[in-house]
Amino acid sequence: MKMTDIIAKKRDGGTLSDAEITFFINGVVDGSIPDYQTSALLMAIYLKKMKPRETTSLTRCMMESGDQIDLSAIPGIKVDKHSTGGVGDKTTLVVTPLVAACGIPVAKMTGKGLGHTGGTMDKLEAFKGIGTALNQKDFIKQVKKIGIAVSGQSGNLVPADQHLYALRDVTSTVDNRSLIAASIMSKKLASGADAIVLDVKVGNGAFNPNVTAARKLAKTMIRIGQQMDRQTVAVISRMDQPLGRAVGNSLEVIEAIETLKGNGPKDLVDLSIELGTQMLLLSSKFSNKIAAKKMLQQQLKSGAALKMFEKLIKAQGGDLSGIKDYQKFPGAKHTLEIIAPNSGWINGLTALTIGLASMQLGAGRQKKSDPIDLGAGIYLHKKAGEKVKAGAPLATLYTNKKETLEEVADLALSAWSIGTKRRKSEKVVVEIL
Ligand code: URA
Repeated sequence: MKMTDIIAKKRDGGTLSDAEITFFINGVVDGSIPDYQTSALLMAIYLKKMKPRETTSLTRCMMESGDQIDLSAIPGIKVDKHSTGGVGDKTTLVVTPLVAACGIPVAKMTGKGLGHTGGTMDKLEAFKGIGTALNQKDFIKQVKKIGIAVSGQSGNLVPADQHLYALRDVTSTVDNRSLIAASIMSKKLASGADAIVLDVKVGNGAFNPNVTAARKLAKTMIRIGQQMDRQTVAVISRMDQPLGRAVGNSLEVIEAIETLKGNGPKDLVDLSIELGTQMLLLSSKFSNKIAAKKMLQQQLKSGAALKMFEKLIKAQGGDLSGIKDYQKFPGAKHTLEIIAPNSGWINGLTALTIGLASMQLGAGRQKKSDPIDLGAGIYLHKKAGEKVKAGAPLATLYTNKKETLEEVADLALSAWSIGTKRRKSEKVVVEIL
């Protein structure tokens, strides 16, 4: 088999066989296919697309390209949750202890943030001393002991994705449905979950600009899950504006803790409860949606979810004092308020702009290897659907790089559109598939 033939076949709109996809992925992982040929095939896939059968085959080969976690030692159905990525998306910090508090084992592998989107692993690192790289044995042991573990990917999980993603990033081929679906699902499948709840974001801060695109991506991933014998559900949720009011790692951790204390912003609470409900239903301990929702609300209200979060942080060696005293989290030396230039109603708050501004303040990374500043970020005082008076603060910027403040302030201000008429704000959960 020759890589040039495979590239030519896809370039001309052909359908790749399982053997050709296996040859490609094996060659990517063992280094026998040079990056220029991999990039050429990625661009051909981007332009000519893949059939459903090819996408599933690609996912399977990627999943098999490295270690696969066996969670069978943990009793019960293990349900994973994955977000396609957004701005201010701290739902994992809320949902995982919430679901674990309902007696469902949570074995969550998580990643680092990239570009304008954040990652749970970075957020957890706001807790001094925390371990986010558990080995497989300790990961399983912790879930069996306390019911929950949240860790960065252990071992050599889906090495094909690490290589392909790095090349997609620099060849403008990230935004392809088959490549996104295969990348996400191969990691979920290799992480050993029995069932998967996908949070598929839609809006300017997400891969999917509209609900039709989000639905197509969701259906592609659900089909892959089903073909691989994993029950898969997708929640389509809005990412037109950031989720909650906090963007940036320490700020988001504080907002997640406040949510677990019962003081969370409505969009974050609503989405967390919906994702948690779907996880409980897939766990098969609950068959009734209303009962599942009620159970989650009780765990939030009673403080049981917060207790579970504390157990998680403690088990992974994190300093718990930040839960009571937010000053313990990494902070920022410099702050600046963004002021409303006129009075009116907030008709829009562009998630993408806020994500990029937050990244420039130091909260995000352009490349996977870039360092990040856990104390940097943006706190939003005004979101879509709210009223503002001229001169009132729209947001506070936090950074340790003073020189960025003025420039980022101009960019961040452009995220708000203020009008004279109130526009009805939309619910965060769009639909469930
Ligand atoms: N998240 C992933 O893990 N992979 C993609 O390709 C896109 C989002």
